Amino acid sequence: MSQPVVFTRTETPRPASAEHRSKVLADPGFGNYFTDHMVTARWSTEQGWHDARLEPYHPVELDPATTVLHYGQAIFEGLKAYHQPDGSIASFRPWANAARFQDSARRLAMPELPEEIFLDSLRELVSVDNQWVPTEGESSLYLRPFMISTERTLGVNRPASSYLYTLIASPAGSYFASGVKPVTVWLSREYVRASPGGTGAAKFAGNYAASFVAQAQAAEQGCDQVVWLDAVERRAVEEMGGMNLFFVLGSGAEARLVTPELTGSLLPGITRSSLLRMGERLGLEVEERRITTDEWEQKALSGEITEVFACGTAAVITPVGKVRHSGGEFTIGDGGPGELTMKLREQLTGIQYGELPDPEGWMT
Ligand code: PMP
Repeated sequence: MSQPVVFTRTETPRPASAEHRSKVLADPGFGNYFTDHMVTARWSTEQGWHDARLEPYHPVELDPATTVLHYGQAIFEGLKAYHQPDGSIASFRPWANAARFQDSARRLAMPELPEEIFLDSLRELVSVDNQWVPTEGESSLYLRPFMISTERTLGVNRPASSYLYTLIASPAGSYFASGVKPVTVWLSREYVRASPGGTGAAKFAGNYAASFVAQAQAAEQGCDQVVWLDAVERRAVEEMGGMNLFFVLGSGAEARLVTPELTGSLLPGITRSSLLRMGERLGLEVEERRITTDEWEQKALSGEITEVFACGTAAVITPVGKVRHSGGEFTIGDGGPGELTMKLREQLTGIQYGELPDPEGWMT
């Protein structure tokens, strides 16, 4: 039985000046500023998980022959800490991120970080850097756990024998500071994100590296985001950029919520699974199934598809207003944010910011 891993706290904490911090918190944007501290833990074949530390935020030094720089064994997670009405700080389903981090590790032949180390690392960092959690509107502290291989070798015939887990945190402003705006999306038929048997279901760094060229193509077409299709036929809808997609069929009491089924090549989003549960609680019919671009276009034109939205930790819920592809374009509803889209958004942010009851016990 291995010893529990306990975090050693720095004896020289290095808080930024209150002046610098309040300047950053007034307009943090996304991913531009980092808190005063970070957490690290190491894994080796001989010692397993060990050497867990909370230290001042600092650069990581790597030998040029470190395997991650060559073969890219790198995975990450993303979740948020939210200010609560009573002045406390809470996160949303962090154990689901812990489990997905383990799933990603298995796919990349990396060691699984035990759930208690993952959760302890979040608690350690948020408690020491609690002054960095913004308190305005829909702002939050974005938490970025990640793991890289650190063995020094160019050998490529086996996974690395040592790894570094790190957690950093970055204050994040309201994503839609000036109101929720629908996006225009590009159906990517030239590039695919993931293929059967590949790494699409893992939060693997390489998936994101491979996506930039398609995102650039979407931007050239005047679109905000790229929609990924299945690799084989380029017909089934998978996900949008770094978010999962939902389709609303019908409206009012008859509304049905449809999202692409988990095929192994899209990321099982935590917001996605939360919205499926919330939809059921609202008494909606919810379906996880294959949905093709033909069905999307036909049912948008006939009016059967009334709303489409994307969901994820960063932007919560983003309405999709318009869809463009190599053969033309079409609009969803009147192109504005849909009623159910905004209702689900309010309910989810209400739970996250402690303003609505949390019937599933998602906050901690
Ligand atoms: N798909 C991809 C490719 C993503 O990177 C993300 C963000 N993690 C999501 C979907 C949404 O996942 P979540 O709801 O867990 O943030």
